[in-house]
Amino acid sequence: MLLDAQTLLDAAFAEGFELAGLTPAIPHSDHARHLDWVSRGLAADMTYLTDHRAQVRKDPRDIFPQAITMLCVGKLYNTNGPKDHTESTEHGGWISRYAWGTRDYHDVLREGLERVVARLKVQLGQPFEYRICVDTAPLLERSYARQAGLGWIGKNTCLINEPQGSWFFLAELLLPFPTTSFNSPPPDRCGTCTRCIDACPTAAIVEGPSGWELDSAKCISYWTIEAKTEASAELKQAFGNHIFGCDICQDVCPWNRRAPLSEEPAFQPANACPPLEALDEQSFRDRFRKTPVARTKASGYNRNVLVALENRRK
Ligand code: SF4
Ligand code: SF4
Repeated sequence: MLLDAQTLLDAAFAEGFELAGLTPAIPHSDHARHLDWVSRGLAADMTYLTDHRAQVRKDPRDIFPQAITMLCVGKLYNTNGPKDHTESTEHGGWISRYAWGTRDYHDVLREGLERVVARLKVQLGQPFEYRICVDTAPLLERSYARQAGLGWIGKNTCLINEPQGSWFFLAELLLPFPTTSFNSPPPDRCGTCTRCIDACPTAAIVEGPSGWELDSAKCISYWTIEAKTEASAELKQAFGNHIFGCDICQDVCPWNRRAPLSEEPAFQPANACPPLEALDEQSFRDRFRKTPVARTKASGYNRNVLVALENRRK
């Protein structure tokens, strides 16, 4: 059965995704670049990027063998909270914008794509198999999203949409049908701008063999979310009051100046600038259960709070 491309895109827009595009479910040419990035140690200790799971990223059909078409979607998470970390409350820590809400975005996006599938099943008048990927599935999400026309990959390594900016969660729906047409990548609009590179407090955006790339071992997001060990004393001084993630290279991006606001209730700001205080297990669970911040566990959160308190004393 040949699916009408516009019908697929309209289903995504109707279910609350601000971005949608279509691309073939085949290996992506960025895969070799990704493996090269990993092999040069730039993924630091993120084992889900460095171990056998990196291999699976090559072909979406390793995830869902019947896949023919990939519907790539973006859901805006920009909200009307503090503009950037310089607007933190006086004694507050900074939590990355994507984690301000009250629910884990994986659940919100998965539910949205399940509604897209339900809508398509009614329109097609038949059930079908599919696979939803939200962040955790081994796919080069940004590369496919670019291929599907959602945006270009900026020097800050984020997917940027003109005119909506880069505050997007990405997800994919793998479908077992061909479609009438695919989207194509937009032009790269970074031009001569270097704002993100200049603003990064740890110089984590580095020039690689084929363009700008992230050195995870220098990135505040890596150290405050993923790392199981402590950063060097020198690096920690640059973390400021960041206790979960870092948005600086997106905050300074001119394409985010007019980013629209999300109306999704689950993403409205509840946790932007919590007080810089260590939390016991129960208090941490009460505050961050079901939010992305839960990923650090209380132990990682408290480690980050101590670093931020130390930085505040200096
Ligand atoms: S997230 Fe922060 S530390 Fe990481 S590259 Fe961007 S500005 Fe630098
Ligand atoms: S700040 Fe400038 S160079 Fe960096 S991603 Fe945005 S437009 Fe591109």
